[in-house]
Amino acid sequence: MSGKGTEALLKEIHVDPRDLDAIFITHEHKDHIHGAGILSRKYNIPIFANGETWETMADYLKKIDKNNIREFRIEEGFYFKDIYVEPVPVFHDAVNPNGYILKDDKFKISVVTDTGWINTQMQEQMKDSNIYFLESNHDVDMLKNGSYPWPLKQRVLSTRGHLSNENASELIKQLGKGSGEIIVLSHLSIDNNTPELAYKNMKKTLDEMGIELEIGAANLEVAPRYTTSKIYDFRRKK
Ligand SMILES: [Zn+2]
Ligand SMILES: [Zn+2]
Repeated sequence: MSGKGTEALLKEIHVDPRDLDAIFITHEHKDHIHGAGILSRKYNIPIFANGETWETMADYLKKIDKNNIREFRIEEGFYFKDIYVEPVPVFHDAVNPNGYILKDDKFKISVVTDTGWINTQMQEQMKDSNIYFLESNHDVDMLKNGSYPWPLKQRVLSTRGHLSNENASELIKQLGKGSGEIIVLSHLSIDNNTPELAYKNMKKTLDEMGIELEIGAANLEVAPRYTTSKIYDFRRKK
């Protein structure tokens, strides 16, 4: 999103950009950092990223106030306010990409997109989350039969590309508990997936696991591409 685009969407959900505490970057690909520099300058917002990612994206973001350059090591968790932030290394064709596990004493959120592979360390870090904001990028058949040139198909399918609908299901087969967790399928390809297909695929997996959405054993959503996703307020539930 551009700075302007982000401002417009925040307005729709009645969030003042000045109230944002931080921007967390996962990797330097342009579609993930586009508006970050502008928002940071305009509203004095700190930007968090690991050292290698900072180095790679610094030129693109242009001048950032040095107080807003927040660098972390991918191997180390850290506190931001009362939230413990645990970077989770992912497999993607960027310099040093990471997802995030965000937790406090009661709640845990995993934000994992842009990864061609999930290893046991990642599973270990993600388990018992209240929210899995999880990539469900493509339907393998749609991708294979679609219009992408072959090298790009290979890139997406590789272990440094993106998680397919099937990959997302495999992960939830390992981690799903049916204890009310929220699964938000995200980073859907516009060419090689549809929200209906991604939803149907995960629903089938949950059905097979005996996790019934109807009784709230889990919640399943697809993050919309161009609008804001649902807001989850965990503080209120405490
Ligand atoms: Zn990327
Ligand atoms: Zn991406």
